Amino acid sequence: MKMYRTLTTSVAAIVLAAFANCSYAAGELIGIALPTKTEARWIMDGNNIVTNLKAKGYKTDLQYSTYDVPTQISQIENMITAGVKVLIVSPVDGTTVSNVLRKAKQRGITVISYDKLIMKTKDVDYYATFDNFHVGVLQGTSIVKKLGLDAGKGPFNIELFAGSLDDNNAHMFNAGAMSVLNPYIANGKLVVRSKQTALAKVATLRWEGATAQARMDNLLSAFYGSARLNAVLAPNDNLATGIISSLKGVGYGRPNQPMPVITGQDAQIANIKAIIRGDQTSTVFKDTRLLAKAAAEMVDAIIKNKPVPVNDTKSYNNGSKIVATYLVKPVLVDKSNWNAVLVTSGYYKATQLK
Ligand code: BGC
Repeated sequence: MKMYRTLTTSVAAIVLAAFANCSYAAGELIGIALPTKTEARWIMDGNNIVTNLKAKGYKTDLQYSTYDVPTQISQIENMITAGVKVLIVSPVDGTTVSNVLRKAKQRGITVISYDKLIMKTKDVDYYATFDNFHVGVLQGTSIVKKLGLDAGKGPFNIELFAGSLDDNNAHMFNAGAMSVLNPYIANGKLVVRSKQTALAKVATLRWEGATAQARMDNLLSAFYGSARLNAVLAPNDNLATGIISSLKGVGYGRPNQPMPVITGQDAQIANIKAIIRGDQTSTVFKDTRLLAKAAAEMVDAIIKNKPVPVNDTKSYNNGSKIVATYLVKPVLVDKSNWNAVLVTSGYYKATQLK
């Protein structure tokens, strides 16, 4: 009898503990602050994060800024007031969110940096992102292969573009790409006629396509009178679109003046169409389904007090600490594999790319 009672008591304790565990997780509010809706990828990120979190029983507050710092800061402030337990933040500007994150920390909120790294603060706990250096390596390699530089061809003319300097990713993408391109610039097989190679010179504030387009216009008129441009390092699809418009404006994209090799990133629908048409050479696919899932798994582990999944604890120093990171692999997409990578995988429907 005594044994029976002990047994039932401990079974009850286990049931109670299990119940306590799940009631603990259920319904907690998670704040998600993303930079902009003007690039399709962020909309997919947002939808995928919300879907993953809801499936795990969480409530979500998803907000987009218009690539505007004060808007994003007040959105995060509102989330803190609303009582979020975890914040997922992809900062418009890596360094300006630190004050508001101080407040989050004081309330015991755990902060996950999403895709873009939050810089120069200890008040960030985890980072979920793609391997950003490798994104750049893929872009650089795409140029090398398409031009045949690795087979000894050249010299070719190239111009370089980079993203926004307040985005740590822009630095990583550029470092990755230049690690591949620099040896060819050094041996004269790649020539930057404008001589604009320094990151500060080639950067594009807030990743504005129109800014890249205007810079391309200037480069073409100042340095490419009768000379032909053979390649452009474009760090993302938005900028590639602006660059393509500029090139078309001066007659590129015709049989006697083919488009240069042009890279990209994000596998946006318009850019996959440009790849199919032959206007853009490649893009880098970053499967937001996988990144969103990784972030949602981090949230779940944090709330349930379990070990948070990370796979890199050395690469991402934000200037104040090394942030424990979960890295997802990016994939190069071009004419040869877009269908298999994007359609067969179910990321896009074939009709979306028609
Ligand atoms: C992201 C890219 C995006 C760019 C502009 C980067 O931090 O990683 O995917 O194209 O920001 O939004």
